[in-house]
Amino acid sequence: MSSDESDDGGPASSTAEAGAAGSPAPDEMYCSNCGSVIDADAEICPDCGVRQQSATDEKNAAVSFVASLVVPGAGQVYNDQVGRGIAMFVGTAVMDLVIVFVAGILTFIVIGPLFLLLIPVVHVAVAYDAYTQAEKINDGTITP
Ligand SMILES: [Zn+2]
Repeated sequence: MSSDESDDGGPASSTAEAGAAGSPAPDEMYCSNCGSVIDADAEICPDCGVRQQSATDEKNAAVSFVASLVVPGAGQVYNDQVGRGIAMFVGTAVMDLVIVFVAGILTFIVIGPLFLLLIPVVHVAVAYDAYTQAEKINDGTITP
């Protein structure tokens, strides 16, 4: 009994290395934990199971703060909160004018110039708003 069934020596078609984990397609990305190429919409990496932070929605709260400190509302615009940014810009401009106006009226009183100290307070408050909004966006508490 000599079963002669051996004939698997041929060069089998081994072209299965085309889809290796190389460069991600436009709708793919690297896992933030293990580096595997995964779907860009994936919330959890199928390889390591770590939740992904979608990079497109991630806001740098410090950038938001500084931006709104330089130009009131710019940080909110950076957060994709354009309407809020415009409102902050207009609101800050109005507040500044009112503060300067009141300080001008009260300039003959000692506390008059002190009103000008409210200007940086308003600007920092707007910047702080941008900061907290960015953190809430990152937490998923709100969407821009
Ligand atoms: Zn992973």
